[in-house]
Amino acid sequence: MAEIRLVNLRKAFDDFVAVRDTTLTIHEGEFFALLGPSGCGKTTTLRMIAGLEMPTSGRIELDGRDVTSVRAAKRDIAFVFQMFALYPHLRVKDNIAYPLRSQGIPASERKERIDEVARVLRIEHLLKRRISSLAGGDRQRVALARGMVRRPRAFLMDEPLGTLDAEMRSAMREELRGLHDRIGATSVYVTHDQIEAMSMADRIAVMSKGDVLQAAPPMELYLNPASLFVAGFVGSPAMNFIEIEGPLAPGATSAQAALPGAPELPVPALPEGASGQKLVLGIRPEHLKVGADEPISGTVFATEYLGSHRLVVIETPAGRLRARVAKGLALKIGDRIGVGVDPAWAILFDADTGLALN
Ligand code: ATP
Repeated sequence: MAEIRLVNLRKAFDDFVAVRDTTLTIHEGEFFALLGPSGCGKTTTLRMIAGLEMPTSGRIELDGRDVTSVRAAKRDIAFVFQMFALYPHLRVKDNIAYPLRSQGIPASERKERIDEVARVLRIEHLLKRRISSLAGGDRQRVALARGMVRRPRAFLMDEPLGTLDAEMRSAMREELRGLHDRIGATSVYVTHDQIEAMSMADRIAVMSKGDVLQAAPPMELYLNPASLFVAGFVGSPAMNFIEIEGPLAPGATSAQAALPGAPELPVPALPEGASGQKLVLGIRPEHLKVGADEPISGTVFATEYLGSHRLVVIETPAGRLRARVAKGLALKIGDRIGVGVDPAWAILFDADTGLALN
């Protein structure tokens, strides 16, 4: 178990900066996700933590010790690759034993440790099978077992569920999180899938173009995103964004949506000192009110039944808005309906900087 600290960590490939001056502390025992779109620098960050990539500047500390120039093999960290380099022709137990053999650990202790991880991962019944005869989820567990058997101080996982089908991914999410809780090792998990990060992680760092934009627990990212990028990337269905005609005086409680014919909307008051020439109002689908008396009138463009509720897409003068409504609400395509904003849940962003203002 380890605390991992990144201090002003930077990686440039020639003059392209893949990771820009990142400072982050990943706490001991935490399940920490690096989340962002393809190319934002997640894998590069993870590879630097593993010792597979040398930072251009900055440092990495493990439990307070500077390991920036310590070789990967000496860091005592397990890197679980996507679909994992297992040896298909070897039996499961020989695959798991591999790292112990190369450390020169004697046979009796090897057996003990393999039995222990097999129990935790519930793969005891597979130990004698060959990798080539296993399904994806079982292979995933074997790969984890091989990482765990060394008793590493931290686990690094790069899109470990990337190649599994949707049903398997969902099952493995629970499995991985449960496993993390049982063994208590610090885990750093790279994914571009916000549902994966939101459902598994204690905290998430959202990355874009080499920068960590916000590092926070899932609920905080969801309710208090610090920027338009985070607000739009986290949450499904996505947050609604409505352009607002600025400038808006601090304390104003309504504003004009910036489209011809758009109505006045209630908005959260800007704090003293905040100002915005161009603003964007962000509101989650579950915080839009839908009903005949609501002020923004629109036409139902699409409806989607999602089991416990219904998602309605409404074309309005303020743009196309997604609202989450009770599943019993009878709305069909083409119906006229009103939409209202609950300002208590709305967030105002500065359209130029992208930063949240309230
Ligand atoms: P993905 O999910 O696609 O792997 P990522 O967020 O993990 O994305 P990285 O793999 O860290 O992104 O890559 C960040 C950027 O750095 C990308 O634009 C990539 O092309 C670039 N990059 C990564 N490794 C190298 C390298 N060895 N040489 C040059 N550029 C690289």
